[in-house]
Amino acid sequence: MEIVEGTITLKVPEGSKEVLLKNLYLSCDPFMRNLMNKPQGTETSSGAIGGFGVSKVIDSGSPDYKYGDLVWGLTKWEEYSLVPSSQIISKIQHTDGVPLSYYTGILGMPGVTAYAGLFEVGSLQKGERVFVSAASGAVGQLVGQFAKLTDCYVVGSAGSKDKVDLLKNKFGFDEGFNYKEEPDLNAALKRYFPEGIDVYFENVGGKTLDAVLLNMRVQGRIPACGMISQYNLTQPEGVTNLANIVYKKIRMQGFHFFDYVNLYPKFLEFVLSHLKEGKIVYVEDIAEGLENGPAALVGLFSGRNFGKQVLLVAPE
Ligand code: NDP
Repeated sequence: MEIVEGTITLKVPEGSKEVLLKNLYLSCDPFMRNLMNKPQGTETSSGAIGGFGVSKVIDSGSPDYKYGDLVWGLTKWEEYSLVPSSQIISKIQHTDGVPLSYYTGILGMPGVTAYAGLFEVGSLQKGERVFVSAASGAVGQLVGQFAKLTDCYVVGSAGSKDKVDLLKNKFGFDEGFNYKEEPDLNAALKRYFPEGIDVYFENVGGKTLDAVLLNMRVQGRIPACGMISQYNLTQPEGVTNLANIVYKKIRMQGFHFFDYVNLYPKFLEFVLSHLKEGKIVYVEDIAEGLENGPAALVGLFSGRNFGKQVLLVAPE
């Protein structure tokens, strides 16, 4: 990754239907790692990396947007980006007291992902036993809190003592543990789930998934959101306990945010009301300046982020 400087005209080209955005906040997301792979047969990947962000419309060739509109959607890691209007997911009706950066997290893609994964894919029912990995991150902290709002028993795993404290003391999880300090993940899960797990919200894959499979209840569900432990491996880790999917009639289903983007209005109503009543909280880790973006992004893979990793590019 390198920073490239250039000049642009702050105007949408004549006749174009595109929208010119001033990027305010950029979202650091694990899937961006895959966008950085070099296209096959080339030496380098080129152009600004794409991702989700919160932006202000500077000029517009689309009748749907005008100067000054605040929007979130797919943009690029640039100060200004010219994008097709179809990449904008939603206009932001900015609400007092809610940070604009939240539209990269709780009010944006990670929020919908947690909501759809838990309720649509995971078919979560009141009172069930829920386990979530990468539990203090952008998606995980919401999965745990949404499950608590559904009167579930919730346990999360995270990679440090401070993160585990956050789960229990800030997000209201029933229990949490540091997976890096558990020599036997199967034993740890047995300790927290003596009667087994109904829903495992999968964020990490690998050894955690393998141990979870031994601890699922009959007809348990595994919404497979991500497997971050595998993204940087040239040789993926083997999962040895897959036969439990058959024995216990487990339903494991992968899903993508874009499959559920139509839920956004319903989701926003749900989450904003809980946020304003103080029943949900959100923790962000904000890095400042495009020049600090690469380190913030790479930090996701070593757990450097404490909450949702955001990059502030320009003040509102
Ligand atoms: P987070 O904010 O949770 O950041 C990533 C976290 O992953 C790190 O902080 C770290 O936490 C943990 N981690 C990193 N490497 C490993 C490893 N080797 N083993 C275990 N944990 C690790 O990220 P998100 O909430 O944005 O994403 C969580 C998951 O959800 C990812 O797998 C991502 O790809 C997926 N995702 C999928 C979407 C979809 O549409 N399906 C949409 C959004 C996200 P710790 O310190 O606790 O180890």
